[in-house]
Amino acid sequence: MNLMMVESQENPKPSAKKSGSSSIDIYAVQCGKCHKWRVIDSQEEYEEIRSNFSGNPFYCSRKPGISCNDAADIEYNSSRTWVIDKPNLPKTPEGFKRSLVLRKDFTKLDAYYITPSGKKMRTRNEIAAFLEANPEYKGVSISEFSFHCPKIVEDTIPEHVEKRVSGGGSGSNKKSKTMKDQE
Ligand SMILES: [Zn+2]
Repeated sequence: MNLMMVESQENPKPSAKKSGSSSIDIYAVQCGKCHKWRVIDSQEEYEEIRSNFSGNPFYCSRKPGISCNDAADIEYNSSRTWVIDKPNLPKTPEGFKRSLVLRKDFTKLDAYYITPSGKKMRTRNEIAAFLEANPEYKGVSISEFSFHCPKIVEDTIPEHVEKRVSGGGSGSNKKSKTMKDQE
């Protein structure tokens, strides 16, 4: 049983910043019975499922009007880049927003939080300082924040990117011959 997020490579948004990095825009969860992938509509709902994934596994029937007999919402293949998320991460406290950005070289994701006042927080220390300086969030605990990032599924990294990553040292791939064209 798995919990994944997907970066859609179709139609890159023109509004996206020129940094070249992209964010996750599809949330998918695998059914514990039929193993089909179901797309979760909102990040909030996804985080809710994730927060108690071990204790309360996901089944198709949790989606209104859907059962295991229905076709999968999305197929796991390399037409998109998939990242594996960690189960049981805390749900983002109300008012805050958690964001994950995929680096343009696909080496990793970066996590950050946006505070209710719109400030970007990149580390636990920044969050701790923010909570201390803003007593109105007294009910919010630092333990509700996690900078744990999903792991990128190597096989789903687009080929044109993969070349640049070669030599990164993740296992013994056949591709260890760097960029040399052999014929
Ligand atoms: Zn199912």
